[in-house]
Amino acid sequence: MIRDLHQKLINKEITSVELTEQYFSVIEEKDKEIGAYLTLTKELAMQQARFVDEKISKGEEIDLLAGIPCAIKDNLCVDGYRTTAGSKILDNYIAPYDATVIKRLKESAAVILGKTNMDEFAMGSSTENSAYQITRNPVDTSRVPGGSSGGSIAAVAAGEAVWSLGTDTGGSIRQPASLCGVVGLKPTYGRVSRSGAIAMASSLDQIGPVATSVEDVAIILSRISGQDPMDATTARSGDKKYEDYLTGDITGSIIGVPKEYVESLEGEIKEVFEKSLEKFKSLGAKIETISLPNAQYALPTYYIIMTSEVSSNLARFDGIKYGLKVNDLSESVSELNPNENSNAIPRTLLETYLDTRKIGFGDEVKRRIMLGTYALSSGYYDAYYVKAQKVRALIRKDFEEAFKKVDFIYSPTTPEVAFKIGEKTSDPLKMYLGDIYTVTANMAGVPAISFPIGFQTVEDKDLPIGGQIMGKWFDEEGVLNVAHTYEINK
Ligand code: GLN
Repeated sequence: MIRDLHQKLINKEITSVELTEQYFSVIEEKDKEIGAYLTLTKELAMQQARFVDEKISKGEEIDLLAGIPCAIKDNLCVDGYRTTAGSKILDNYIAPYDATVIKRLKESAAVILGKTNMDEFAMGSSTENSAYQITRNPVDTSRVPGGSSGGSIAAVAAGEAVWSLGTDTGGSIRQPASLCGVVGLKPTYGRVSRSGAIAMASSLDQIGPVATSVEDVAIILSRISGQDPMDATTARSGDKKYEDYLTGDITGSIIGVPKEYVESLEGEIKEVFEKSLEKFKSLGAKIETISLPNAQYALPTYYIIMTSEVSSNLARFDGIKYGLKVNDLSESVSELNPNENSNAIPRTLLETYLDTRKIGFGDEVKRRIMLGTYALSSGYYDAYYVKAQKVRALIRKDFEEAFKKVDFIYSPTTPEVAFKIGEKTSDPLKMYLGDIYTVTANMAGVPAISFPIGFQTVEDKDLPIGGQIMGKWFDEEGVLNVAHTYEINK
């Protein structure tokens, strides 16, 4: 799609301004129902579009992403625009600089349409934890789009953006991509700079691309990745054009299927998954059953490490440094102290901290801060946090062992298709189980992609099923090529 649009732009069949306006009119028409966007960045979009049109009219060369409209998850800073991370505590926060990925997109002259809805601070699997609105799955609007990057994924699936960026700490790009029938990639930890991304769990977070084809995802990754002095965890991995590695040939590749992941599969997901294995075989790959013996501990370990990092990262939101301060909101003040005059400024520093956090954070965020604070507190630190780090090392070892025998690891992305809005909100543990196949890639740091492999029909609707390919550290080109080869032979 990106290449086609690029061709149209340089052949002058359409201008970037026209294309951008077309997307804004789709947003106008559809987003009342879908709820993908929190903020539209119209001025910035039109300015970029005009800039690209001028370049084209002067006969200058433009990048593949130039002039093509995209959407950005609202935890990535775009200079001069509101960046809420889906939280009330950042309701009035205007980003004072661009995230590195945004700087790079601006260098490519990509057109940014707006900022997308998400679970608060990226905590969730349904986008129902946003402080602002829910987002609906464009395939079936009675269902969730998945999360936490639900807005970014729904925008692409609904045709409200050509492509988007999300973030993935435990599955937040891949799980919604799977539930909405699009492609999403979590790069290797260290491949893409996190500078300017509002942190959830810093040792797990990665920014990644979402699009309707694997090639588009590769094109985007090439533009956002690479070492960055602003993020010391970025690797000196060299600049690559990932789109040049899509050969469409996977003959002889060995794809491992973890028995722990597929034992419990049932129904149509099982059938679709098995069919996809046949497809891989017919494309010349070898399928081997492997074991990731510690995978069973991935989810509980993730919930210790992630919440510990969350409790530390979110300590900075205290009513002083960023965003909301309870005194700013007379209604919040009266909510807290009904008898008090709402114009009074009665608070001590500690009260300001406490009241701001009480009003500013939603339930799921508070739950995780409490869990993490508990896991890090003296007396429990060794039993929970240190132990979880040890298990994390074992999970990584499982991958090292597996990758001695196989080139890729394959499973469904999620154990279930999209569920109904409201179905899991009262049971956080059920919600957490949706990440059972995705969190391991973050724990080990390996790249992982979700791409559509079929459908399960529920109540007359074909609900998408995603397949997940994980690869060796920094083998994005391999992972992308496997998914691409599958996609073009569908
Ligand atoms: N759904 C997972 C969680 O709630 C993953 C979140 C994410 O990747 N940001 O933690």
